Amino acid sequence: AKAKGKNGFQAFQPAMEQRAQKRLKLEANLRRALDLGELELHYQPQIDVRSGRVVGVEALTRWHCRELGHVSPAEFIPVAEETGIIVALGGWVLRTACRQAAAWRDQGLLDTLVHVAVNLSARQTRDGALMDEIRAILDETALPASLLELEITEGVLMENVNANLDLLHGLQAAGIHLSIDDFGTGYSSMAYLKRFPIDQLKIDRSFVHDVPGDGEAIATAIIAMAHSLQLSVVAEGVETLAQLDFLRQAGCDIMQGYYFARPMPAAQLTALLREKRSS
Ligand code: C2E
Ligand code: CA
Ligand code: CA
Ligand code: CA
Repeated sequence: AKAKGKNGFQAFQPAMEQRAQKRLKLEANLRRALDLGELELHYQPQIDVRSGRVVGVEALTRWHCRELGHVSPAEFIPVAEETGIIVALGGWVLRTACRQAAAWRDQGLLDTLVHVAVNLSARQTRDGALMDEIRAILDETALPASLLELEITEGVLMENVNANLDLLHGLQAAGIHLSIDDFGTGYSSMAYLKRFPIDQLKIDRSFVHDVPGDGEAIATAIIAMAHSLQLSVVAEGVETLAQLDFLRQAGCDIMQGYYFARPMPAAQLTALLREKRSS
């Protein structure tokens, strides 16, 4: 009884301490991950609904930590953000993805592939050096800017509209494509969207998940709005034929999800592109 304390506070504290310990361990390991070569990019195909061709791939970071095993991006990306590790990590992601895209291009595998998409974090969008870094990477890899697409979440975009307008105009002027990720979860209005120089909206996975059902009306509305602004629409997280059928009928342009392919290592995607080319 004595050990329990007031409102079970003593029992609660060890759990909190454990969580703090775990987080410190994650952070310490994440700091070393780049140097130890523990990070890898996987690529998930994006399929054009009409032609059935792979028109893009999204680069997604994978971390196999020697101490902690596989850690999911949902767990380590927020830590990378809070600690600033994302600046180095994000630079590595950009460089690696551009290098890979340039290699695919040299192998003649990009005839149908229009772009390689890379996720930008909030911290990266606030980093004044980002534009220069991207220019240097494109230069170094000799990748045409039009083959690079950057994904920025709707939430990050709306956090600082004016600063992001400048950044996006700079990226657009450089010839880079821009896509709004997790669309429908934030608070942007059509009036705002019109001001941003963007190419594409990605319907958030949560809405696709609710098809058939409540997600249908939202997906339909997003597709109509995107098309009225001359933007293409990607549905992410497409897992079933029913979702594919509905989204196709609703006019969605591009789809991405386990129904088509999971994110895969570069070598595997290379094989897939070769196979698609010869068929
Ligand atoms: P996101 O940008 O929305 O990426 C899509 C996520 O959905 C990926 O999870 C992908 O593997 C997953 N996914 C794709 N198709 C399906 C499907 O059909 N069903 C389900 N259930 N999931 C599907 P992942 O790779 O675990 O990444 C999670 C999030 O972590 C990403 O969400 C992104 O916000 C962040 N992230 C991953 N890599 C990077 C990176 O290199 N940089 C930054 N800034 N963030 C990253
Ligand atoms: Ca994304
Ligand atoms: Ca997304
Ligand atoms: Ca997401």
